Amino acid sequence: MTDPLDRLKALQGADLPVHGGRTLAYVYDSGVPEVDRVAREAVAAYAASNALDPTAFPSLLQMENELVGFACGLLDAPEGAVGTVTSGGTESILLAVQGARDARPDVVRPRMVLPATAHAAFHKAAHYFGVEAVIVPVGADFRAEPRAMADAIDDDTVLVVASAPSYAHGVVDPVTEVAAAAAARGVRCHVDACIGGWVLPYAARLGRTVPPWTFAVEGVTSISVDTHKYAYAPKGTSLLLHRDPSLRKPQFFASAAWPGYTMLNATTQSTRSGGPIAGTWAVVQHLGDEGYSDLTDRAFAAVDAIVACIEQEPALHLVVAPDSTLVTLATDETLDPFTLTDELVSRGWYVQPQLSYGDHGPSIHLSVSAGTLAHVQDFATALGESVAAAQSAGPVAVDEGVVAFIEALDPAALGDDDFDGLLAASGLVGASAEGDLELPTRMAEVNAMLDVASPAMREALLVAFLDRLQRPASGTTR
Ligand SMILES: *Cc1c(COP(=O)(O)O)cnc(C)c1O
Repeated sequence: MTDPLDRLKALQGADLPVHGGRTLAYVYDSGVPEVDRVAREAVAAYAASNALDPTAFPSLLQMENELVGFACGLLDAPEGAVGTVTSGGTESILLAVQGARDARPDVVRPRMVLPATAHAAFHKAAHYFGVEAVIVPVGADFRAEPRAMADAIDDDTVLVVASAPSYAHGVVDPVTEVAAAAAARGVRCHVDACIGGWVLPYAARLGRTVPPWTFAVEGVTSISVDTHKYAYAPKGTSLLLHRDPSLRKPQFFASAAWPGYTMLNATTQSTRSGGPIAGTWAVVQHLGDEGYSDLTDRAFAAVDAIVACIEQEPALHLVVAPDSTLVTLATDETLDPFTLTDELVSRGWYVQPQLSYGDHGPSIHLSVSAGTLAHVQDFATALGESVAAAQSAGPVAVDEGVVAFIEALDPAALGDDDFDGLLAASGLVGASAEGDLELPTRMAEVNAMLDVASPAMREALLVAFLDRLQRPASGTTR
């Protein structure tokens, strides 16, 4: 028998690197090996611990309370604020929506008012909890329009949302005005600071201009902040803070309606691994305010350098000047962003394409970490080469037959055969000589095809794709 850890390493070779500061989505790299060591050892030490019962594992309760206490300081939380460690940003958002819904049992058809740029996790919450998402267009600067948001609030509104910053454009909504509009109607206001919540406070302390968005803003009732993003903690933690315990109460769930232990849960999970909690706690202990301030300084230095690179490329432009550590860029007509993405990926820089949406064309998203700073010169070189290569390749063309096929299809009424044909035609899935499903290496054609599809069709196609990906396999070592 081969050592499973050897096979694990071999399998991991196919993944994006999580270190090296060149993966600009999904992972956040401090660039400090000691941070990873501390996290790894704490996760391993607590991998089997269970936060299900705080009386059985009091150390996890202690760590959780210390994490929330630290976050209270960052987020200007008033005396009496409370919080919960969740498994990620999506779970924090799900719980914010569920709590807002269940705090208003009098509302038969609950609604929440979202700026169009709010994270897709709110749409998932709408789907799970039967809360209608009322989408309000954002302004030309990609920020929420408080007047329009206020007008969208009605008697059935249980929640109003703002982002600090939004994921797709990296700008902070006018939280003061949005929260005031919510408060004026007695409605909860959640600030989604999943990605900015751990950097913006340090950016402000470092003297950068940060619009107000924390609990210092009147009317903000809850905030989500992901520790597995810019707290550089291992994956699997986010924090959901509430201004006071009464706001959090509907989130808690107890059931004594069975013969076993009385179930008592603070989140959607019941058994909850101690690993991510301990890993996050250890990283926050290790770095502290001083460490985070330094890492934030480095992340913003990297952002400034990358912004300067983009501004020097005549064929590229920023979609909007970043308020935080997220950079969104677009191309002129001499190249397309999907080919540019592939070229950057082939040079070791993973960047994330964003499809056209509404009135706006496709763009490229970069989540910049502290660990990126040491490599910004290499980024400048890779970007210059990639632009040249994408320009000489010319914009990727979608087969006209495929476009016509997509436009004629109703995503709600598609059969398996339609999907098979389209998946194959699009290059989204190929088959190896052995008939195994193979992932495409160059994505430009796939993205260009998705770009011409409606949002509903994109969803249907990708769900069919995922269904094909998730099939039982047998390991090759047995
Ligand atoms: C990442 C993110 C989320 C979702 O978080 P997950 O940890 O991926 O579940 C929600 N909102 C914003 C603004 C984010 O950046």
